[in-house]
Amino acid sequence: MNNSFDLNKILRPHILNLAPYSSARDEYTGHVGIFLDANENPYGSVTDQDFNRYPDPYQADIKRKLSPLKNVPTDQIFLGNGSDEPIDLLVRATCTPSKDRVIILPPTYGMYEVSASIHDVYIDKVPLSADYQIRVDAVLEAITPDTKIIFICTPNNPTGNVMEDSAIETILKNFNGLVVVDEAYVDFTDKPSWIDRLAEYPNLVVLQTFSKSWGLAGLRAGMCFASTELVRILNKIKAPYNISQPAQAALLAGLESADKMQEMVKEILEQRGVLCTMLEKLSLVNKVFPSDANFLLVKFDDAKSVMEYLLKETIIVRDRSKVLLCEGCLRITVGTREENETLVAALKAYEQRNVIV
Ligand SMILES: *Cc1c(COP(=O)(O)O)cnc(C)c1O
Repeated sequence: MNNSFDLNKILRPHILNLAPYSSARDEYTGHVGIFLDANENPYGSVTDQDFNRYPDPYQADIKRKLSPLKNVPTDQIFLGNGSDEPIDLLVRATCTPSKDRVIILPPTYGMYEVSASIHDVYIDKVPLSADYQIRVDAVLEAITPDTKIIFICTPNNPTGNVMEDSAIETILKNFNGLVVVDEAYVDFTDKPSWIDRLAEYPNLVVLQTFSKSWGLAGLRAGMCFASTELVRILNKIKAPYNISQPAQAALLAGLESADKMQEMVKEILEQRGVLCTMLEKLSLVNKVFPSDANFLLVKFDDAKSVMEYLLKETIIVRDRSKVLLCEGCLRITVGTREENETLVAALKAYEQRNVIV
């Protein structure tokens, strides 16, 4: 391996040396006693349910349950306010504003660019190939001494496909910065998670989320799996109580129902196939791209008009028609069977109307 990755060289020097805020719950971790240390309200809350106590800053109960499920030790798990939080923290931990750089591979998830821009960090874009794969040589060429992170989304949003293992491996082996593999849609594919490769690559960071397959987008909870050292840094720079108490309680309960998640995923995958077949039969559809996620990227003859028509029918899809390599495409989330049938019926009506006109 040509890699001489050293986390200490990737972190911003002041982050490395930072003394974190020490919360009351950091300093005393017991559960019983008279708690007069955090300036909480001793009488309870204004609501029926009590939320007067600060939550566990490190979400130990959740990590204890998540660890065997993911086969990752608890000290290699970071939990965030959505996986958008670790994206932001990783940029903050490694990139000095107006100096350092990240690489993104468009078309891809928008938050990498937004987070980098917020921190005034340079963004180098290496577009995917026409078949939505990583152009490895171009990525390696784009790396500079100031490049700290390469963001790879697989299955990719909005294209829906999985990136080739060999491409990611080559980047992991030849880049001395962090390779962030965003697996928000991993539960919708048969491909194994990059989580299994954490021990092999100290520069690998894997993101997953409770927002999609688990159906918990409203809770705002995301997972970041990385080296113990990096997880320690993320814990040091996060907001002290980044996951609220009700969110932690709901997550803890939700983790008991991994089988329900699997059932919903199974149904979504079945519906994805059905929806794909129905869409491919429509003459206004140019192409339905293969998907390993819970959405379909669909190319239309006239995406803009279709989008506007669907909006009038109060069917809301995502317009990606202006996005590089997605020209003419709408991104359609797989809905329930009934929702998908309504969508297809509306598209059929649109087709017929346009034939008559
Ligand atoms: C939906 C999505 C996320 C999830 O973000 P959360 O903040 O966890 O809701 C992350 N990455 C990608 C690529 C996504 O599409």
